[in-house]
Amino acid sequence: MGRRNAPQRAPEETSLSDCIFCQIAAGRIPAKKVGETTHVYAFRDNNPQAPTHVLLIPKEHVADSAADLGPQHAIMLTELFGLAAKIARDERLELGWRLVTNVGPEAGQSVYHLHVHLLGGRSLRWPPG
Ligand code: AMP
Repeated sequence: MGRRNAPQRAPEETSLSDCIFCQIAAGRIPAKKVGETTHVYAFRDNNPQAPTHVLLIPKEHVADSAADLGPQHAIMLTELFGLAAKIARDERLELGWRLVTNVGPEAGQSVYHLHVHLLGGRSLRWPPG
């Protein structure tokens, strides 16, 4: 689900085989892996906005963004939040960390495969801007 109902799809992304995060999850495009669970893959953002900047994605393209999520994604989301907390512990982010998911162009979403940013290692301003 998700692909059909997503009016905010990036025009250059026309099929799942074009989806860069699908290809990272499948190992076809290299990424700096940080961890994984049955349904979730975590890797370092290649344009980091903080000392720790990790992306957590579902391995399967189950949603373009958080706008497409439903109860059927509960297990994947529980794994995703649990893996984020484990990575934050591993990276010693005791002073604080943040999870962000951008939805749509005004929020700055650039990849239309659900992903959550884990940011930490510096003071994070609020509101984020
Ligand atoms: P968003 O703008 O919220 O859609 O986030 C997409 C993120 O993916 C950005 O922070 C990019 O830097 C990151 N990104 C795009 N391509 C790659 C890649 N091949 N490896 C790692 N991070 C990537």
